[in-house]
Amino acid sequence: MPPVKKKTLKVLPDYRDGNGNPGFSLRRWDGHAKQYAWAPVPITDDELRIQVREPVRLSSEPKYWLYRNRFVVEEGAASMPDDFIHLLETVVESTEARHDLLRRESIVREKAKALEQRLSEEGVPLQMRSFELENCVRQALSGIWPKRHSELAISYPEELTLRVKHAVLSEEKSLDKLRREVEAFENFERIGATPREPIPEHIRMFVWQRDRGCCVKCGCQERLEFDHVIPLAKGGSNTERNVQLLCEACNRTKGAGIG
Ligand SMILES: [Zn+2]
Repeated sequence: MPPVKKKTLKVLPDYRDGNGNPGFSLRRWDGHAKQYAWAPVPITDDELRIQVREPVRLSSEPKYWLYRNRFVVEEGAASMPDDFIHLLETVVESTEARHDLLRRESIVREKAKALEQRLSEEGVPLQMRSFELENCVRQALSGIWPKRHSELAISYPEELTLRVKHAVLSEEKSLDKLRREVEAFENFERIGATPREPIPEHIRMFVWQRDRGCCVKCGCQERLEFDHVIPLAKGGSNTERNVQLLCEACNRTKGAGIG
């Protein structure tokens, strides 16, 4: 059983209910209604508290995690719920004609039907069509069994937890970076559109990066302007050492002081 691969984890958007708590629904088999239906996955207060520090596994099927208000899906992991495999074993083991090739396809269909029946009776949540069930039965009859979820969970519990954390934290980091970049572009465009002094673009770009898109006096990120430390009129130049970012308010204050 190979270790869990990073690519098998997918971070879902941050879902909140009306109270700001994470809320999540899964498509589950409804044994009574005999159909799949969306059902909310209950999250306890304890889990809500813990998930701020440690990933919490949400469903009995170890496929969904909650960490820092984000849901993580174990995707593409070639494993099936233990309940499912148990039923598959029950259905397939009881066959008396494993190698009866002539009857094989009819046996497959028969067993798949029986399996479907058992799954709905036991309320095992699965989204599988008839042909997928038949495939499982066909393979099991040849001795190829799906992996159990519990193997995935139990063989590498620490690694899986680490990978869930890593997936969420990387997602947060890359979203932060995106947000900052978009902000910088928008601010830069706004400033560039109304140049007060003909400062070359590469100088403005350099100053913007150096001053991190903030007013060097008060640190705010609103209404920024490129300011000449020594005004051009007083012999200042357009070099990066003489240009800084100031917000409109700080720039006006400075102007008043000099004037
Ligand atoms: Zn300022």
